[in-house]
Amino acid sequence: MKLYNTLTKQIEEFIPFEEKKVKMYTCGPTVYHYAHIGNLRTYIFEDILEKGLSYLGYEVIRAMNITDVGHLTSDSDTGEDKMIKGAKREGKTVYEIADFYTNAFLSDMKDLNLKIPKIIEKASAHIDTYIKMIQKMLDEDYAYISNGNVYFDISKANDYYKLSGKNKDDLLIGVRDTVDEDKAKRNPADFVLWFTLSKFENQVMKWDSPWGVGYPGWHIECSGISYLTLGEYLDIHCGGVDNIFPHHTNEIAQSEAYLGHKWCNYWCHGAHLNDQTGKMSKSNGEFLTISLLKEKGYSPLDYKYFCLNSHYRNSLVFSFESLDTAKIAYSKLKNKVLSLEKEGEIDGTAISKYTKKFKDALENDLNTSLMLTVIYDVLKDENLNDATKFKIIKDFDKVLSLDLTKEEKKSISAELEQEIIEKIELRKNAKKNKDFATADSIRDELLQKGIKLIDSREGTTYEIV
Ligand code: AMP
Ligand code: ZN
Repeated sequence: MKLYNTLTKQIEEFIPFEEKKVKMYTCGPTVYHYAHIGNLRTYIFEDILEKGLSYLGYEVIRAMNITDVGHLTSDSDTGEDKMIKGAKREGKTVYEIADFYTNAFLSDMKDLNLKIPKIIEKASAHIDTYIKMIQKMLDEDYAYISNGNVYFDISKANDYYKLSGKNKDDLLIGVRDTVDEDKAKRNPADFVLWFTLSKFENQVMKWDSPWGVGYPGWHIECSGISYLTLGEYLDIHCGGVDNIFPHHTNEIAQSEAYLGHKWCNYWCHGAHLNDQTGKMSKSNGEFLTISLLKEKGYSPLDYKYFCLNSHYRNSLVFSFESLDTAKIAYSKLKNKVLSLEKEGEIDGTAISKYTKKFKDALENDLNTSLMLTVIYDVLKDENLNDATKFKIIKDFDKVLSLDLTKEEKKSISAELEQEIIEKIELRKNAKKNKDFATADSIRDELLQKGIKLIDSREGTTYEIV
């Protein structure tokens, strides 16, 4: 498997610490609002990576956090706490907000056929781990207390800028733009490990610590949960490109300071989904969600197909026109696969040939559009019988999870269901009164609507035809 590694800035052969076993960490959602479809593009790429590795025979253990505490609106040490902002907006407690949007996120994942990681941990559930890590960093002088907060001293980190590839001066400009200059810091890019000096007087989530009542900074939660659930060595860490700085840069600094050695070998980042006006963002007010796409008549898998047509490292511009094109192509593809005869002799040589092509695309830094092309090649191959085509595509769909071989369950609207129940009752009464003409016309009327009535000794049921 070859992957682009943000740390080394090149495509590299992936070699895990333990043979055929992968420890993978993916930054999870901040649950103060729905995930927008841009966020979900990142989770789609991570899911392909996880399933792709499993397809290639690796055992993958993946962990993800749920950020329910300490995430600030300006990814630095200022701004409003996102959870408090969500609670104020909806007149709920931060705990209710966290629960509601965690469930909404898991439901989006399910709609997109994304595997829920084996390990999912709430940031607020591991305060003791962060405290233990911060104390060690204080004891070893990587951290310092200033004006009530605990800060990480970036000048003590081993090559602090190695992930972002920027330098101190570049970052100083960015830092000045986003951070009210905090006089308590030794270096402008130092970041908070533990807040005691709350910027928010109404902060609800707070805990005792050796440094006073407070709450953890955002970055320490991922280092803490990764260490706690996956141990001292991590193979792959993922997120969107916006996470490279400061979040992942700070994760590396504090994890390596705490552990005393290199922590994670491969850093994989997904490029952004933008709308025509620029970056998609939840703080912009209106944003696109999976529920909104569903309301507009798109299936979540139309959107997933749209994403898989481009490479995860290329930024992608969303428009409804492009989604329409993807919807039509996806529907044609699925119909074509479903029309294949499933029974027949299987051509093992063809399976090996196409599986190799598919694996080559997968192993080439997750080339999903090429993986889709292999599916089209299989469908077009005149030397292959239907059963072989169906078997190959079913196998590839273990990675793509586009439900290509899954028959849709037919469903009806709630109104039609109510009408059927009422008509079955009318028909029952008509039969009781020996009015067979009415009973038959009700049956025929429903059949016109695609509903077949089935009479049995137990009563009448129906089938969608
Ligand atoms: P958040 O819930 O804001 O912490 O973000 C969840 C994930 O979505 C992170 O991995 C981000 O890097 C990623 N992300 C944020 N905005 C976008 C975007 N416009 N396109 C793709 N991924 C994004
Ligand atoms: Zn993270």
